[in-house]
Amino acid sequence: MAHASPFLVHVGDLVRHGGAPRSHRVSAPVDWSIELSRVLPDPPLVAELVLSAASGGVVVRGTVMVTVRHTCSRCLEDTDVLVDVDIDQIAEREGGDDGYELHGDELDLEPMLRDEVLLSMPLLPVCDPDCAGLVRGTESGLNTSTHDPAGRLESPFAVLEDLFESGD
Ligand SMILES: [Zn+2]
Repeated sequence: MAHASPFLVHVGDLVRHGGAPRSHRVSAPVDWSIELSRVLPDPPLVAELVLSAASGGVVVRGTVMVTVRHTCSRCLEDTDVLVDVDIDQIAEREGGDDGYELHGDELDLEPMLRDEVLLSMPLLPVCDPDCAGLVRGTESGLNTSTHDPAGRLESPFAVLEDLFESGD
């Protein structure tokens, strides 16, 4: 457990001393998913960010690049696509209304980046705008075993016939 999260950044220079903006790069495998989209751990996420001091916090701007596996909402085929997501967020010492919060001099970028990436995902991904969906005809073949003669023995009518024959 000595492994620090690759998303943790020390920002004491920015929040305490109003230091100059600096670039920050994160490269880490993640496994985030929502509905029909999953961020693949391989290749790893790459975030190219600029961190700058703001009153009461740190502004995070930049781009996150991830590979996402979308499951087509029509035909259920998987498609892998490279996605760029713009980041423009702030993490505050006091944690705003729904905002992100600094933990002392530490900024955890993971919840921020995860939210922004997952929010950018399409609600109903499609493999192609013209995707026709599941091919018809797959149901032929499902109901071909109804003529199994053995099935007749299980029929409730067979039971009734037995009742009639054994009754008075
Ligand atoms: Zn499709």
